[in-house]
Amino acid sequence: MSELVANQASFLYPWLVESFQSLTQHPIPNSLLIHGEKDIGKLQYGLELANYLLCESTANRPCHTCDACHWVAKGAHPDLFVITPQNLKHLLPFDTDEGDEASESEDKKQSKFIRIEQIRQVIAKNELGSYRGGKRVVLIYPVEAMQAEAANCLLKTLEEPSAQLHFILITSHLEKILPTIRSRCQFSAIPKPSHPIASQWLKDQLPETLTQEKIDQQLALYAGSPLKVIQSIDHKTFDELTVVNELSKFKLLQSGVIIEQLQQHTLFDILNCIYKWSIDLNLVAFGLEPRYFPHLASTMKSQTQQVSKATLQQFISHLRDDIRLANHPLFPKVQLDTLLMKYKQLFS
Ligand SMILES: [Zn+2]
Repeated sequence: MSELVANQASFLYPWLVESFQSLTQHPIPNSLLIHGEKDIGKLQYGLELANYLLCESTANRPCHTCDACHWVAKGAHPDLFVITPQNLKHLLPFDTDEGDEASESEDKKQSKFIRIEQIRQVIAKNELGSYRGGKRVVLIYPVEAMQAEAANCLLKTLEEPSAQLHFILITSHLEKILPTIRSRCQFSAIPKPSHPIASQWLKDQLPETLTQEKIDQQLALYAGSPLKVIQSIDHKTFDELTVVNELSKFKLLQSGVIIEQLQQHTLFDILNCIYKWSIDLNLVAFGLEPRYFPHLASTMKSQTQQVSKATLQQFISHLRDDIRLANHPLFPKVQLDTLLMKYKQLFS
């Protein structure tokens, strides 16, 4: 993906770019409270800001190409701490390895709250100092998910600010934030997308068969939030058969057949399908059973013997980056075509 877009603006929803650029023209406050309406991309904005603070490039931060940026994209930067309730973990563009989820109780997994242990863990890690010798960033989303004891625990650290430690707090409910926390933060208001920007953006994301009128109706229905409109599209209606059938031709795959799917389906749906298929290939390469397409196990087995496991895993990692950006692609067709070319190369 980095060969397609390598400037900061491309990694933000278009309605967030101006605000981001004006915020980053000045030194970023150590305790920043980002607020705005629901479903306008505040989490993405906060993550991009964390990336900006941690990027090790000397210009055009975040560069999305340096080591630090790659780690942020994978959720693996040792100086980035993202705290969310368990029930919102799926909103993050990467997996978090906090705790052993397999051994966690169902209650904890579904928790709507940020637990005091989550805050304590991060504070303890922070006391060890910065891993990369630069800034450290703690991002909390949403702040109102902290119950009183978690908030009080955080407060102690907010009261003793250190120059290299940044807090990015995000909320849709400013009125619910404790005054003691609010008083220690500087505010940054995130704008709601204007109708023309939201409408144009949706036009670029949605199947070409959807008319402008239909898009505008949807936007009205979801209070002007283009992200809500995207979420409302039922991904289950996507028929994976055509894509999987083509993928199972390996190096003989015809990219056009899959790219054609963009007329009716979102890039996200298609990438997700390729992702599931690739995960299965990886399982089979390690002698395990496929998880998503068990009926195609023997087809996969016949091909994966010649595939380099390392290259396959690299491909999956690229794919993850693409999925992360699939909600705001610049050139969906080019992106898909590049990816499919890489896919074919796995088998040649
Ligand atoms: Zn960078």
